[in-house]
Amino acid sequence: MVKKDAVVSLSYTLKNAEGQELDKSSPDQPFAYLHGNHQIVPGLENALEGMLVGDKKEVTVPPAEGYGEFVEGLQMDIERSNFPQDVEIQPGMQFSAEVGGDNRVFTVTGLEGEKVQVDGNHPLAGQTLHFNVEVVEIRDATQEELQHGHVHGPGGHHH
Ligand code: ZN
Repeated sequence: MVKKDAVVSLSYTLKNAEGQELDKSSPDQPFAYLHGNHQIVPGLENALEGMLVGDKKEVTVPPAEGYGEFVEGLQMDIERSNFPQDVEIQPGMQFSAEVGGDNRVFTVTGLEGEKVQVDGNHPLAGQTLHFNVEVVEIRDATQEELQHGHVHGPGGHHH
């Protein structure tokens, strides 16, 4: 059964509200994660609790339980001089910064003269997520996995 600290392997597809496919697990390698350790969005993690191997489910996750609401204020222009001089700033670059006590990942979205345009929203912020999941395998986590807080081996974290 899916419960805290179990290693769960999933086969899944993720679609947005328009039915467009955003992501899916690889056909020959299920996605493995450590349940109850905030490695997947809360809405999906809660829905998986108690499921058994072979169980399938459609899960709809609102933004608040997914990648968060879209926040316009996280799109901003920053002076080029605030970035290290020896770094070439390019769209797509990511960096983390603290905003209101939260550590957030910002992505550079554009450059205009001495202004760098950045966005601190997750690419899927504001989206209602539609998951189609199947539980493929469940096993106990090893001591080492519990210490590291992530899954080792196939489908998991690689060292
Ligand atoms: Zn590790």
